[in-house]
Amino acid sequence: MIYRKDRAGRPISQLGFGCMRFARKGNAIDYEAARDLLAYAIENGVNYLDTAYVYPGSEECVGRALEETGLRDRINLATKLPQYRMKNLQQVEKTFQEELARLRTDRIDFYLMHMFTTFAEWENLEKMGIRDWIAGKKAEGSVRNIGFSFHGKTDVFLQILNAYDWDFCQIQYNYLDEHSQAGRTGLEAAAARGIPVIIMEPLRGGRLVNLPEKALCVLAEDPRGLSPAQLALRWLWDQPGVTCVLSGMNSLEMVKENIRTASEAEVGCFDETDRAVMEKVRTIFREKEKVGCTGCRYCMPCPKGVDIPGLFYYYNLMYLEKKWPARMDYASIIGLHKEPAFATQCVGCGKCESVCPQHLPIREKLKEADKAVRPWPLKAGLSIARKFVVK
Ligand code: SF4
Ligand code: SF4
Repeated sequence: MIYRKDRAGRPISQLGFGCMRFARKGNAIDYEAARDLLAYAIENGVNYLDTAYVYPGSEECVGRALEETGLRDRINLATKLPQYRMKNLQQVEKTFQEELARLRTDRIDFYLMHMFTTFAEWENLEKMGIRDWIAGKKAEGSVRNIGFSFHGKTDVFLQILNAYDWDFCQIQYNYLDEHSQAGRTGLEAAAARGIPVIIMEPLRGGRLVNLPEKALCVLAEDPRGLSPAQLALRWLWDQPGVTCVLSGMNSLEMVKENIRTASEAEVGCFDETDRAVMEKVRTIFREKEKVGCTGCRYCMPCPKGVDIPGLFYYYNLMYLEKKWPARMDYASIIGLHKEPAFATQCVGCGKCESVCPQHLPIREKLKEADKAVRPWPLKAGLSIARKFVVK
């Protein structure tokens, strides 16, 4: 196992165990299977486990497994506060105590404000007095590192990153999402400030493992015989700003393969051959795309507040993955902002098209994308939801 460092210089395994997708038996987590996989991973060098209050049954499962196996002190335990549900500090404290009890521990090594998508969410926590609460927890030793996980737009990520003295952050990042959400810009900004970055969705929820047939043929031509997961993980571990990559492993085979890759892949490992293969695979994904937007954001900000790359990203996602999950992600990440970012706000000034390096007919594509991503039932639902849940 190769180790990177947390902010205090302590070793963090570059492969972390994501505990959101444990194998299930009926409606519940298959506890014995999860415990055995966790134990195997820890015995073989993984020292970072990531769970959350809202992952059903996960904190209880991890807590019980660590107690039964006696491995608690060999790992860094990360879990998350569902900040978007919090109304006051009493609720924050109650949730935190519940998490300690579920995890059968007296400290959380890495505690995250879960899923920021807007800056207003951080401002709300500040108004509640979260800064003092965090300072208190750190002083008593029940929280060692404080961070946040993020699923919004790049500029919001940078705003949150710069608003507090974070010990770490967690972003969605993989070779398809290089320029969406926090993206490479966010990763490099965090690294420049010395803030460790934990990576979630390195395989895009399995999408980068279950490649289209044509992409598998590209990989098969490579004499080194890299698997799709190896390609995606090596791309990440090549980057010095990446601290730990979380993988939601639910079979022994997967754990073994990822540990093997994590024992070899380091900064500088992704050579010209890897890059050529990855570019070909990425091109195959892009062939299915509806708009050739690279997410570079040269067109932003739009004077009318349209989130141009955001809409194109979800429009493409509908055809690369599944239509309704992509629409629902769009609705929650883009559609519920205080300042709406819908394509219908476009007044057709053309400023964006004059700077787009891809020469995209942005105005025309915005109309097409809006119709597909926000069909009328979603449009109606969103306008009702906005009245109650504007973030
Ligand atoms: S054409 Fe529309 S989307 Fe483009 S900059 Fe002008 S208002 Fe914004
Ligand atoms: S400038 Fe063009 S390619 Fe870049 S984000 Fe805007 S629409 Fe996409």
